[in-house]
Parts: sequence; structure tokens; C-alpha cells
Amino acid sequence: MQQEIYVYLIIFIYGIIIGSFLNVLIYRLPKKEDIVIKSSSCTKCGHKLQWYDLVPLFSYICLRGRCRYCNEKISAQYPIIEGLNGIIYIIIFLKFDFSVTTSLMCFFSSILIAISVIDYRTFEIPDILNIVLVVIAIISLFFTQDILERILGFVLVSGFMYLLLILFRALRNIDCFGGGDIKLMAAAGLFLGGRRIVLAFFIGCILGSVIHLMRMRFKHVGNVLAFGPYLCAGIFISMLFGWDMLNFYMGLLNFSL
Ligand SMILES: [Zn+2]
Repeated sequence: MQQEIYVYLIIFIYGIIIGSFLNVLIYRLPKKEDIVIKSSSCTKCGHKLQWYDLVPLFSYICLRGRCRYCNEKISAQYPIIEGLNGIIYIIIFLKFDFSVTTSLMCFFSSILIAISVIDYRTFEIPDILNIVLVVIAIISLFFTQDILERILGFVLVSGFMYLLLILFRALRNIDCFGGGDIKLMAAAGLFLGGRRIVLAFFIGCILGSVIHLMRMRFKHVGNVLAFGPYLCAGIFISMLFGWDMLNFYMGLLNFSL
């Protein structure tokens, strides 16, 4: 039991370190800045940050959310992303066995976080992040028995969304998705397979319509919707609970027949 707690503590620390790299991606990718070489500096005073200013989660807490040099408030987004990524890693490892596939799920989810925040802010998904998702999905093919299901997922979801895109353009003269959304779902289709990507799409659409309508009503945001975050949420939920939900649904059908 105690050993297990240590293992999960290490997973959490690992998660917040990756989370801190996600913050770098989130800030630098949309600005097309270098993500590896350039060292971090305060966004307000520009002072170069030392390693002890950059310890995930702990620096923010120790500095009480303020820059050591200019005392300016640091965005709460940093610790939130770091903590969220750590918690998500623990949830994934609690839900699934310790395996390569489980680690791949963690990386996949981290990229989903970065995509969600960037799309929410800029209405665009950087191609490089979708490419990373495809690479993770292709690696995962080596550790699965049902490659056909995966390829089906890829073809099914990209074909279906492309069709919807053409249809909406023809009938309503609007783009219902961006190209980035389709690439995102295609990559996730290859990672999750046919059945779970369909589920992910439905969950994403339901979340998107419900939450966005509420935001339009109460927060008076416009009707332009960044669909990426909702699709990412759908993908994540389907990745974690997809088989449980589909089995439950099939059970209901059997019961009622
Ligand atoms: Zn500063």
C-alpha cells in the first residue's frame, strides 16, 4: 500500500513536470517562438527565470503567485495546467494497468490539454500538435490486437466530418469545423478506434452545444465556438470510460429486447 502511494507520487511529479512543458507550448506555439532553446523569463519584467523559479507547482506556491523580481502576479494558468496534468496521469494509471499503452494515453491527454487551451484562446490548433497525436497513435498500433478497428476509426471520423463540412458549406454557407478539428479527430480515431471515436464525437458535440449555449446566455460570448476543447473532452472521456459506456449501453439494449 505504502509502496503504491510512492509510485503514484512519482507519477504525479512526472505529470506536473510535463505539465510545465505544456505551459511553454501553450504560450510559445501560437507566437511561433522556439520551444526548446529560449530560456523562460517573466512575461511582465522580462527577468530571466532561474531553475528554482520554475519548479512545477511548488515555485508558484512558494512565491505566492508573484514574480520574484517585479512582484507582478503570475497567471494562475501555470499551476492549474501543471496540477491538472499531474491529476490526469494519476487517474489514467489508476484506471488502466501499468503498460506502454497507458503511458501513451498520458502523453496523448497532455497534448489534448495544450490543444484545448490554444484553440480556446486563438481559435486555431497548431498542426505540430496534431502531428504529435498521430505519431503517438501510430506507436500505439504496435501494442494493439485490433489494428483494423483503429484504421476504421481514422477513416470513419475523418470521412464523416469532411462530409459534414462540405454539406454545411453547401447548405448554410458556414464552416461547422475547422481543418484542425478534423485532423484532431482523425488522429484520435486512429488512437481510440472506430467505436470509441464515434462516442467521443457525440460527447464532444453534446458538451459543446450545452456549455456554449450556457456561455452565450450567461457570459454573453459570441456564437463563434472553439470546438477543439469540447472535442478534446469527448476524446478524453471516451478514452477513459468509452468501453464501460458502450458495454453499459449494449447491456441496456439486451435487457430491453
Ligand atoms: Zn517579473
